[in-house]
Amino acid sequence: MEYESRFARPVYNKFGEKIYFDQMTMAEILERVKKNDIIMVPCGSIESHGLAQATGEDTLIGTYIAERVAFETGITVAPPIFYGSHPSHHYGMPGTIPIKKEAYIDYVVSVVKWLSNTGFKKIILFNSHGQEYVLPIAKDKAIIDEGVHALIMVTSWWAWVRDLLQVGRELKPGVRLETPFIHADELEASVLWYVAPKLVDVEKLKESDAEKMVGVIPDKWVDKAGNVYSRPFSWFDVSHYMEIHHYPKGSVGYPSKASKEKGEVIVEEAIKRIIEFVEWLKEKYPPGVVPKVWPEPGDFKY
Ligand SMILES: [Zn+2]
Repeated sequence: MEYESRFARPVYNKFGEKIYFDQMTMAEILERVKKNDIIMVPCGSIESHGLAQATGEDTLIGTYIAERVAFETGITVAPPIFYGSHPSHHYGMPGTIPIKKEAYIDYVVSVVKWLSNTGFKKIILFNSHGQEYVLPIAKDKAIIDEGVHALIMVTSWWAWVRDLLQVGRELKPGVRLETPFIHADELEASVLWYVAPKLVDVEKLKESDAEKMVGVIPDKWVDKAGNVYSRPFSWFDVSHYMEIHHYPKGSVGYPSKASKEKGEVIVEEAIKRIIEFVEWLKEKYPPGVVPKVWPEPGDFKY
């Protein structure tokens, strides 16, 4: 097998320009922000995704979607924030590397602050992991505690396609999700299979299913991942049983039901909808134009 460095291969958009911030020189970055000052920062995780899916799954999925959006729109993608913050029930799984919340938030704030200093004034923290309750704290800390003058937006890939993630909804003729989105399950395995087929062990998917699903509080009151059902408790509002106790194989759900086809429909639709938003953002706030979302010196009287 021939060696190929993971990071040495430049990735270009459809205009023949570099997509990734970390692959550009300072001169290229200064040119880029004059033309387009929108940047997506993929916020993923390194965590167990069961027996058949790579631990970088979340980071991979978010970065893939950001890269495809950048390919079409000319925005820049920041190097992903690989490690993530985790809810308590993930802790202890082999392969899961949780970063303390305070450290994670401060890290993200620093990334935002200095991207803004470099000239990126519309910063999308593009989440792909169960940490959507943590990232908005970084958004406000950057503005209030660090005085950042930029429009900061937090979103997760699944938020763009919640309608498609309903169980039983026809994705295309004869293709539908059979189980709700949780973790390293039918949906996540399908999406990874589509975006990074070489990083799914398709044979092992069959033996990765959870033995049984357990819940502390009945489902009708507590949402699943992505909060796709608008239930009174979001999934991150309540404690859940530890995965190390109840899901030793690392899949909370049924990855045996995954297919590349399901992943394709969901990912392509998410990309399409995010591109529509980015095109709107480009037009509404051209380079250098930023809505004034920060306070003025003297605004506060404490
Ligand atoms: Zn995941």
